[in-house]
Amino acid sequence: MLNPVERLAFACRTCFDVGKVSFGTHDGECPSCSSLTGGERTARLRADTAQRVSKPGIRESDLTTQEREEFGRLRACHTEAHSLTILVWIEGRRYDPAKDVEFLALCERRLRKWRFLRLTNDGPLPGWAASALAGAGGDASDVEREWVDSLRESRKRAA
Ligand SMILES: [Zn+2]
Repeated sequence: MLNPVERLAFACRTCFDVGKVSFGTHDGECPSCSSLTGGERTARLRADTAQRVSKPGIRESDLTTQEREEFGRLRACHTEAHSLTILVWIEGRRYDPAKDVEFLALCERRLRKWRFLRLTNDGPLPGWAASALAGAGGDASDVEREWVDSLRESRKRAA
């Protein structure tokens, strides 16, 4: 996966569009972009964007009638946006997380972990503690007995 700086588009990768760079003891105008005109800067930013953004997996001919209308509407609203960008937006609207098996499996894993960790950081009770809690004696140490007693009290309070 790309880090944020690799994912974002910049007109100038020397100064990351700040305009100034450090020369050790002092800073000054960026040598690679300070002479650019506004148009040149925009063109470089567009070229960098085109190189970095994700490409759509669909084409204009794949759009349904409804999506074609939406495409036209978005083009009119966002005159600066490239048509491939608008296709990516429409493709994103097609995505339904409820039908994504991989994503659902990930959610289920995270939910299981959350259920395991919620309220306590201990996870399920060990067998000896469960039986001690149920009333069985045994060879528990003082610390273990104390812990089981505190568990019993907290459960009484919760009930
Ligand atoms: Zn620069």
